Amino acid sequence: MSRVINFSAGPAVLPEEVLEQAAAEMHDWQGCGMSVMEMSHRGREFIGICERAEADLRELMAVPADYKVLFLQGGATQQFGMVPMNLLRGKSCADYVNTGEWSKKAIKDAKGMCQVNIAASAEDSRFTCAPAQSEWKLDPGAAYLHYTSNETIGGVEFNWVPQAGEVPLVADMSSHFLSRPVDVSKYGLIYAGAQKNIGPAGLTVVIVRGDLLGGARPGTPSMLDYKVHADAGSMSNTPPTYAIYIAGLVFQWVKRQGGVAEMERRAIARSGLLYAAIDASRLYRNPVRREDRSRMNVPFTLADSKLDAAFLKGAQERGMLELKGHRSVGGMRASMYNAMPAAGVQRLVEYLEEFEAASA
Ligand SMILES: *Cc1c(COP(=O)(O)O)cnc(C)c1O
Repeated sequence: MSRVINFSAGPAVLPEEVLEQAAAEMHDWQGCGMSVMEMSHRGREFIGICERAEADLRELMAVPADYKVLFLQGGATQQFGMVPMNLLRGKSCADYVNTGEWSKKAIKDAKGMCQVNIAASAEDSRFTCAPAQSEWKLDPGAAYLHYTSNETIGGVEFNWVPQAGEVPLVADMSSHFLSRPVDVSKYGLIYAGAQKNIGPAGLTVVIVRGDLLGGARPGTPSMLDYKVHADAGSMSNTPPTYAIYIAGLVFQWVKRQGGVAEMERRAIARSGLLYAAIDASRLYRNPVRREDRSRMNVPFTLADSKLDAAFLKGAQERGMLELKGHRSVGGMRASMYNAMPAAGVQRLVEYLEEFEAASA
């Protein structure tokens, strides 16, 4: 078996141990004579799988007891709408911080339901920084404050938690979920699509403070009401069973590695290696302010974009895939989620040096 080094922004690399376990259990999960894919979501086996996944995630993130953990569908994109639908609770305004492409999408969906106050924007810097909190203009009447704690496309990560006072803080953590310790109690709601750092596409994890449930706008369909999902233990309809199972295996894997503190240590090491190589070169450049650089997603450009095609071709020949940057930024992007081995980044750094020497 030959595995590539997969720098995809998502769906993304998964731990090999997880894939091996899933393969071994594919036809017959723990002696029950069927695949997890074939099980009833109401059956004892699957309910056990789901409960274990939730318990492991709660343990990994030290989720306080008064928070609900929901396993939903619709991607992080569906949360752009579900958040205002559920959290406005009669108010007419919400605060948003605009740090890039994903923030903009969240803002667009919220605008259909409320007045959006852009509390801060990094647009003037072409989305290369996380605006300092001292510049934010928060609305004390806002129903919640939303920000994108890691901008997957621009490669901007918040290394601090915004102060929202009494206003519930909402974070789209899709692309750095479980990559660092998070104090959940500082948030009203956290959401993340699974395909970056959790498991397969099709699952979205939501962690929400219990007292924020039950205030959905009149007419909200039941599938879009957090309380419906919370009351039904994420089983109000058929959940994405196989995706939950794989996510559960990933949670067990993270625990075996040493938890989120170890994930953070590895992320610092991996990204540090790559940023150092970029900064030391004349050919490559990352535009993000140093203290706001993402540990997960590293966009970089080549001094001459005419070299891009040759760079990507050489990378592919060396088993490194999905390095092409997002169309809105151009250049390259290396996404290095929890399952990316250090050796993969080492290989990339060697190639950066080799390519630069050859093109000088
Ligand atoms: C990938 C991503 C999304 C969109 O996720 P989908 O699951 O495709 O809806 C939203 N926000 C961020 C920060 C992302 O990285």
